[in-house]
Amino acid sequence: MKVTVVGGGVIGITTAWYLAERGHEVTVLERAASMADETSHANGGLLHASHAEPWNSPGVLWDLLRWIGRENSPLLLRPHALPGLMRWGLGFLRYSRRRHHEHSLRVNAALAVYSLERLRALRAETGLRYDDAQNGILKVFNDQATLDAAAEASRHMDEVGVRYRLLDPAATVELDPAYADAADQLAGAIYYPEDESGDACLFTQRLAELARERHGVHLVNNCTVEGWRTEGGRIVAARTAQGEMTGDAWVLATGSYTPQLARPLGLRVPIYPVKGYSVTIHAPDWAGAPRIPLIDDERKVVLSVLGGRVRMAGTAEFTGYDLSLRKARCDNVLNNVLATFPGLRDHIAPETREDWCGLRPMSMDGPPIVGETAVPNLYLNSGTGHLGWTFACGVSHLLAQRLSGETPGLDMAPLAPDRYR
Ligand SMILES: Cc1cc2nc3c(=O)[nH]c(=O)nc-3n(C[C@H](O)[C@H](O)[C@H](O)COP(=O)(O)OP(=O)(O)OC[C@H]3O[C@@H](n4cnc5c(N)ncnc54)[C@H](O)[C@@H]3O)c2cc1C
Repeated sequence: MKVTVVGGGVIGITTAWYLAERGHEVTVLERAASMADETSHANGGLLHASHAEPWNSPGVLWDLLRWIGRENSPLLLRPHALPGLMRWGLGFLRYSRRRHHEHSLRVNAALAVYSLERLRALRAETGLRYDDAQNGILKVFNDQATLDAAAEASRHMDEVGVRYRLLDPAATVELDPAYADAADQLAGAIYYPEDESGDACLFTQRLAELARERHGVHLVNNCTVEGWRTEGGRIVAARTAQGEMTGDAWVLATGSYTPQLARPLGLRVPIYPVKGYSVTIHAPDWAGAPRIPLIDDERKVVLSVLGGRVRMAGTAEFTGYDLSLRKARCDNVLNNVLATFPGLRDHIAPETREDWCGLRPMSMDGPPIVGETAVPNLYLNSGTGHLGWTFACGVSHLLAQRLSGETPGLDMAPLAPDRYR
């Protein structure tokens, strides 16, 4: 079958890979000059089943109200975004009820475990490297109550295969001495030994090349899909500046822009762009660099070491499709990391510091939106939110199985696009 994938981020390229591996003739249409140019470009680098909790946790409304207008808060709602946010936002709050939230947590955790298995298999099969590391992840806590709540969530996730170990401050430093400077402030930490890290952009670009070389995937850059031509309710072609592109089946892997592309086809896809920032420091000589990546749940920042680079990421801003890069928000991310690793300060050089921002394609309830739609030959693979790098191999493998008539390796019902009806 001729399958056309729209979007060349980590989700689109993994989709193309698994489809081509199954013998389909695959084309990827990407509007940017290179693959992984948008949200997959400089994310936190963590493959974290441990972080499967959807962001609409039961207290989220209070957090949003408490932090409104506060530039240094990890979660920021900009008033100008409110009109465009109403419908999605109400759903986001509705799904924050404990019952929904626990369901979404289990769906995400099981999917993340499956995804990491697929990634390991892909790495073993291809030998692909992407500044990756398999050292687990440490979640640190300064507050006992937050640690207790995270331990409770970890117990739920353990039931679907996310392993963890509770550590006191001394055991944390014993596991990775790089955390010694923070030991005095720590209430404790949780270690997730099976989590990983790596550069999503490098992975996507290298996998795209491999897909072209090994499976003949046709990669088309500078190609924006502007609209559709349909016949009898099916998509026949996409209209682009390079002319019409055809396909028997279509996959939208267009991240935060999926709602715009689906709407002319009569589909409403509940995805909202949640903006985040990252800072990358080139620090190949940082002797005190952690071996184990960091998630600081209270300060809402993460850190990973990608080869000789240190990547820090965080903040969630509800501000529509605004991609302006605010240095103050990047400084916040950096300062929140320096609280744990003060030694990094000596390695910050303005000429090598790279600030970045991107839009997380956040679904209304938490799990991604994957599977067939009411348009018979259109499939969605989107809505991966803060977990797109973690989920990439899993969601794409499942979708490729489904499209090829195989039984998917995991129940896809909780991911189905029509689950909101
Ligand atoms: C600050 C930050 C930190 C993050 N950290 C992590 C992390 O540590 N771990 C993790 O698992 N996840 C993380 N994420 C989330 C993860 O990066 C995303 O979920 C993931 O990159 C989404 O991938 P995607 O392929 O769906 O979207 P994208 O990478 O945005 O790809 C979509 C592609 O579609 C293309 N496109 C859109 N419209 C059209 C059109 N009309 N025609 C043609 N092409 C089009 C775009 O150009 C784009 O390349 C983070 C996100 C952010 C913002």
